[in-house]
Amino acid sequence: MELSKRQEEIIEIVKENGPITGENIAEKLSLTRATLRPDLAILTMSGFLDARPRVGYFYTGKTGFELLSEKIKKYKVAEFLQIPIVVKEDVSVYDAISTMFLEDVGTLFVLNEKGCLSGVLSRKDLLRASIGQQDLNSVAVHIIMTRMPNITVCRKDDSLIDVAQKLINKQIDGMPVVKDDEKGLTVVGRVTKTTITRVFVELASAKIV
Ligand code: ADP
Repeated sequence: MELSKRQEEIIEIVKENGPITGENIAEKLSLTRATLRPDLAILTMSGFLDARPRVGYFYTGKTGFELLSEKIKKYKVAEFLQIPIVVKEDVSVYDAISTMFLEDVGTLFVLNEKGCLSGVLSRKDLLRASIGQQDLNSVAVHIIMTRMPNITVCRKDDSLIDVAQKLINKQIDGMPVVKDDEKGLTVVGRVTKTTITRVFVELASAKIV
């Protein structure tokens, strides 16, 4: 996060004099308390300063990088998940390929007859099936999919950074967000490398870290 010159000055004043009241900071800068209010709000919201009622502001000692890292670690899957695209186990490879194009996704999730997660289909799974000699209309996706229990999943309250780490470790493009119920795992969303890239870009353009 880029701080303005005045915000940098406020941090220096608080570092040297904290705890210090907003009134006293304003005095040292020859400004009014009202003029400073937005800057103080930004500095406390972003974690550079802490404010204690009736005591004043003090410096938290955290660097911009530490604050950014803390913020990223707090992101949960629930805030960023995308809509999952699913197919049934008995759908043909041909139809799965059509769905992938129509829905513009790189990974499909396969549901069993109970509507629970049973498999994953990636682009390469479908390509592999396509370069064989079979008729793609007569091969069902459950023959070629990666199946349970070998599917990497995440849940809504997992942290996004852990999911990103799993995507890297497992060398996969995405994973289903699931909810546990008595029948099995219900698919409620998806997180992909694109989700992580989007968050990265949003972080860079955010005004407040
Ligand atoms: P691509 O095949 O397009 O490179 P991936 O890297 O995601 O896409 O997939 C590689 C392999 O891993 C495929 O066989 C796929 O079925 C499998 N796969 C994809 N996502 C998962 C997942 N969440 N859990 C387990 N296996 C997966």
